[in-house]
Amino acid sequence: MNLENLTILQARNLLDNKQITVRTLVDHYRRVISEKNHEINAYIEIFTNTDAEIDRAQKMIDKGEQKTLTGIPYALKDNILYKDHQVTSASKILEGYVASYDSHVIECLKEEGAIPIGRTNMDEFAMGSSTEYSAYGPTKNPLDASCVPGGSSGGPAAAVAMDSCVFALASDTAGSIRQPASFCGIVGLCPTYGAVSRSGLISLGSSLDCIGPLTKTTEDAQIIYNIINAYDYMDSTSVPLEKRNMQSRAFHKPKKIGIPREFVNDPGISSDMKASFDRAVSIFIDAGYEIVDIEIPHIALSLPVYYIILPAEASSNLARFDGVRYGIREKGEDLLETYIKTRGEGFGKEVRRRIILGTYVLSAGYRDSYYGQATRLRSLIREEFINAFKKVDVIITPTTSGGAFRFGEKSDPVAMYISDLFTVPANIAGIPAISVSFGKTKDGMPLGMQIIASHFNEDALFVLGKVLEDNK
Ligand code: GLN
Repeated sequence: MNLENLTILQARNLLDNKQITVRTLVDHYRRVISEKNHEINAYIEIFTNTDAEIDRAQKMIDKGEQKTLTGIPYALKDNILYKDHQVTSASKILEGYVASYDSHVIECLKEEGAIPIGRTNMDEFAMGSSTEYSAYGPTKNPLDASCVPGGSSGGPAAAVAMDSCVFALASDTAGSIRQPASFCGIVGLCPTYGAVSRSGLISLGSSLDCIGPLTKTTEDAQIIYNIINAYDYMDSTSVPLEKRNMQSRAFHKPKKIGIPREFVNDPGISSDMKASFDRAVSIFIDAGYEIVDIEIPHIALSLPVYYIILPAEASSNLARFDGVRYGIREKGEDLLETYIKTRGEGFGKEVRRRIILGTYVLSAGYRDSYYGQATRLRSLIREEFINAFKKVDVIITPTTSGGAFRFGEKSDPVAMYISDLFTVPANIAGIPAISVSFGKTKDGMPLGMQIIASHFNEDALFVLGKVLEDNK
């Protein structure tokens, strides 16, 4: 039987019609992993102790009590806690650390009877855009192994793109789901901040982090989103359902598409991307949508704002990794030396760079001029988006300036940071955005288009994502 490129509903049908068992499906993906992972390095660990989950899922199906994801295998990014399993955020400092509880998203998927198949690679603590900063070595792009898969969720994106699972769960703080989705030719959704609980996600920037799916289709992204978006009292920023409904425009069909023209005319954008973006626009016009040029005056400042706020939050979040409570310990003469040795050896270069930067922008005398100023600008950018959404229903931009780059090509940290140019504004404003694979570079590598909606209007993203997908 052909099990290639199964979407959720295709796998669902095969399982429900008893054409395959849950175990056959899991074994199939394990085989794909053992064939491809030594080259691609998408997985850090394959879960082999899932017999109980597999049996339970099969029983649910046999009794006719299955849910949408019962028996569906998925991959996890290495910063999402799965009880009794290792989780390291691809950092040496957390080597051997075992999660003592399930993240909220895992609880949601357990409830469904979905099967976690493995833990996937990422940039250390989700800092990076290429997965070159992992303590476990880089992940390669399954479509061309000389190119990066993007980051920080390079592992989960490659896992889906090499067809070793049906979908993956990952985190997005500035583009870490959407950018790898576009580099690997799949779909990536960053939900509204506060829609999906962060409980059990190893924090990077707590005011920006979102958990979302990487999938083969827009429809799959919608299915996963509908399952993981739920109020959770364990996350103080989880938004109660009544409040979400007040902000969403449910039943309102998107009609007007905004283009922040000046922003998307960035000189750094490749000619392939420019051509694909123009083609996407004409597809929307043909499909009856109205295109409106809009202004979000401070949108281009999202990136500098991010690189103040993120290091500040990351330096404080990472303070807990000190060799005392979690992971490895490099013993020194006294407590201070233990801290210094553990952190000096446990953290990689990029993580140390961000901690230094974050500590600096929060230090006495500088706090207001850096962190304070960035926070004020952040509110302004958020307001500008809210105003723009009074005129249009969604906004479109390219996901990235071009296709996947080669290993080592962005060795200068600032060149790497610029990768987030188009994706970071949504995180700054806390609004949802999706990347849908559309168009190709002249070397045949995939490109991605980004659709952005207002708070809690993910539905509009799925409608428009499908339009692009159907007209690829
Ligand atoms: N490139 C971003 C960074 O390095 C990605 C962050 C993210 O979304 N996790 O911070």
